[in-house]
Amino acid sequence: MKKWVTKKSGYKVYRALFHMSNAFLITTPEQTILVDTGWRYGRNPLCRNLKRLGISHIDYLILTHTHHDHVSNARYLQETYDAKVWVHHEGAEILKKGESVVPQGTTRISRLIARFIGRHINRFVHYDACLPDTALLPPYSFQAEGMNILLIHTPGHSDDSISILVDDEIVIAGDSLFGVFPHSLFPPFANDTSRLIESWNRLLETPAQLFLPAHGFPKKRRHLEKAVASHKRSIK
Ligand SMILES: [Zn+2]
Ligand SMILES: [Zn+2]
Repeated sequence: MKKWVTKKSGYKVYRALFHMSNAFLITTPEQTILVDTGWRYGRNPLCRNLKRLGISHIDYLILTHTHHDHVSNARYLQETYDAKVWVHHEGAEILKKGESVVPQGTTRISRLIARFIGRHINRFVHYDACLPDTALLPPYSFQAEGMNILLIHTPGHSDDSISILVDDEIVIAGDSLFGVFPHSLFPPFANDTSRLIESWNRLLETPAQLFLPAHGFPKKRRHLEKAVASHKRSIK
């Protein structure tokens, strides 16, 4: 299982699920935090990995947003690991209904897909509704027990997207950037591309050097800087 350790406080970040969408576990001597839960078929591999790490209790489950491929196991984890579920307040009602809202496509093909699946998605991807313990309101600064973990609102892919800055070094980015394509960080689906670029700039205001997307592979700070610069050139 892939693992990163922060230099400052020695927090460990594990890629606890590497599947259609990733989930990350942050551990400190005091707390265990899971970010995202994967889609429904990710439950078994995720729970196997948690077992390998000796995890039987999760303090907080933070959801980067309420698309089904990130939250499908939220209720199960809330009940099984006694996890307190945190979600952005704009996603709270969606999570309570077990629904998923399809964002718009950002390419010709993804626009077609979004139009088609948008109409039918809730039939296919309905998940167990989950009552969040906390619906996050600005400024989303979460520093439980003195932990250096900051939640940053990064809308654009969806209105309820948040990213998690771990110990000033690592950002767990959800779908705010994509790690699937070698030359682009742009997610194939996004509600509002200009808000997404603003969110990228917000992430670059942090000192983070490593960015962990929910789909695909880690990206470095220079990749995000390059993506912002190339977007600026494209709109000139
Ligand atoms: Zn998404
Ligand atoms: Zn996703």
